[in-house]
Amino acid sequence: METCVVNLIEPGDPMLVCINGVFGQRMADVAQRAGADVFTVDEKWGRVFAPEQIAAALKSQPAQVVGIVHAETSTGAGQPLEEISNVVHDHGALLLVDAVTSLGGMNVDVDGWHIDACYSGTQKCLSCPPGLAPVTFSEAALEAMDNRRSKVQSWYLDLSMILQYWGTERLYHHTAPINMNYALLEALKMVQEEGLENRWARHQAHHRMLKAGLSALGIEYVAQAGYELPMLNAVGVPSGVDDAQVRKQLLEEFHIEIGGGLGAFKGKAWRVGLMGTSSNESNVLLFLSALEKCLADQGYALKKGESIEAANRAAGRGFG
Ligand SMILES: *Cc1c(COP(=O)(O)O)cnc(C)c1O
Repeated sequence: METCVVNLIEPGDPMLVCINGVFGQRMADVAQRAGADVFTVDEKWGRVFAPEQIAAALKSQPAQVVGIVHAETSTGAGQPLEEISNVVHDHGALLLVDAVTSLGGMNVDVDGWHIDACYSGTQKCLSCPPGLAPVTFSEAALEAMDNRRSKVQSWYLDLSMILQYWGTERLYHHTAPINMNYALLEALKMVQEEGLENRWARHQAHHRMLKAGLSALGIEYVAQAGYELPMLNAVGVPSGVDDAQVRKQLLEEFHIEIGGGLGAFKGKAWRVGLMGTSSNESNVLLFLSALEKCLADQGYALKKGESIEAANRAAGRGFG
């Protein structure tokens, strides 16, 4: 996030940041610290942006860069980007996209959607240890970097120097974490072995199973209908249920950790990750049966096994 921002922004440059969750907020914070003149377009948490909202914001004030989150991990909402990309480019701005959670779990068509700068992480749907943040830049973004009036504010993240290090010159810049580079290479080989499309389909299939199971328990997603992310399932904590107690019991009794709500969803939502390798059927079924027990222990009315049956039906297996 910081690499993309500091290389594209110079002090005083206007940057529009779209905020509908924690990571949009963080991008605005990063941009402010980098000296950008940040203005925002805000949407209710869990909802996605319509292209018209971005167009209206850019009409009121032009921007050098527009930043937006593809998969907002705090709300479980997936942001369509294609039309927004057209709007951003029609207004002469560069499009910066956070694909930390989406990469490897759903389509991130960087070139097809004309994304100018995109960053991700190794630790989400690529199922690699944490520590690296892959970034990619378009020709237009590289040109903007070439035309800077000032040095990049961060020495460590200055891509003009990193390009010389990674390029044919091999000019020393910093000591690379080579163990992580090998880890990422291996993780990417595993993605390639499975096939990207198969991987997206696997994330979808297990999301559908989980959703069917949760729905049987009367638990609903907090993201806008039709935009639920497959890898991050954010659902409302049912009324009368102790949020923290359920998460504690899941962890202590079943060794399953789910996320609590962040920001506006604190205490109100659970975030169930099905990312990369962990997006599998046994995790879905184990989680649902563990959750049934935790809910039943709190006196929540349910029919034992009903979520498992619904998940199995969603996977195409009728039984019982
Ligand atoms: C996890 C996440 C980040 C931050 O990644 P870190 O490696 O923890 O800094 C940023 N954006 C999104 C959308 C994320 O899900």
